[in-house]
Amino acid sequence: MKTLKIMCLYPNEMNIYGDHGNLLTLQKRAQWHGFETEYIQHEPDKPLDTTADIIIGGGGQDSGQDKIQADLLKNGAVLRQLAADGVPMLMICGLYQLFGHYFETHAGHHIDGIGLFDAWTKAGPTRLIGNVITETELGEIIGYENHSGLTHLNKNQSAFGRVIKGAGNNGADGTEGARRYNVFGSYLHGPILPKNPLLADELIKIAATNKFGKFTPRKIDDCLARQARNIAATRPR
Ligand code: GLN
Repeated sequence: MKTLKIMCLYPNEMNIYGDHGNLLTLQKRAQWHGFETEYIQHEPDKPLDTTADIIIGGGGQDSGQDKIQADLLKNGAVLRQLAADGVPMLMICGLYQLFGHYFETHAGHHIDGIGLFDAWTKAGPTRLIGNVITETELGEIIGYENHSGLTHLNKNQSAFGRVIKGAGNNGADGTEGARRYNVFGSYLHGPILPKNPLLADELIKIAATNKFGKFTPRKIDDCLARQARNIAATRPR
């Protein structure tokens, strides 16, 4: 049996609005596609396992971001190298922000990030909350945002998608998330993967191709995901 190792960064501190569902979805869909999965939980001050095939991370309160900052910065060079090597990653909201250069909170407190994305974030005057629809290279992605941070992509940083409905990175320039190598950053909770099987399968496909040279998807019935998407798409928040 072929095994895919899925690592979650800081699941105690960075895991809100259902982000844990991303792990469950990857585990389940990888199994449905014929793989075994192994779960690696990365916590602050533990050595970072560099053998993960997929790395995910969730959102968090400003205080959670503060707690994991030192460990994240310590592992920044390794994570940037794994990204350059093509390891697929998905970072949501709070960790998406810290995969950029920094997040500046309302209080003016700087939480530094690892600069994998050429982007920076500053807390805005209101929280951006609600269902979001975006158009990406993979197709339409639907999720739920809840953040104070306004993220700005520097000019060579590509977005993950363009907002059709909702605020996205900053509510002003129409971008949502960021993409570099096989690393996806996004504001979308919901969680994002159960509602977007195409993104879950993309991460699995990249991981399986990196490790085993090919990926042959199996047919999966996604009717529940379709129902969840339809409901989210018609609700303002
Ligand atoms: N604390 C950050 C913000 O408010 C991230 C929030 C989140 O991860 N949902 O922007």
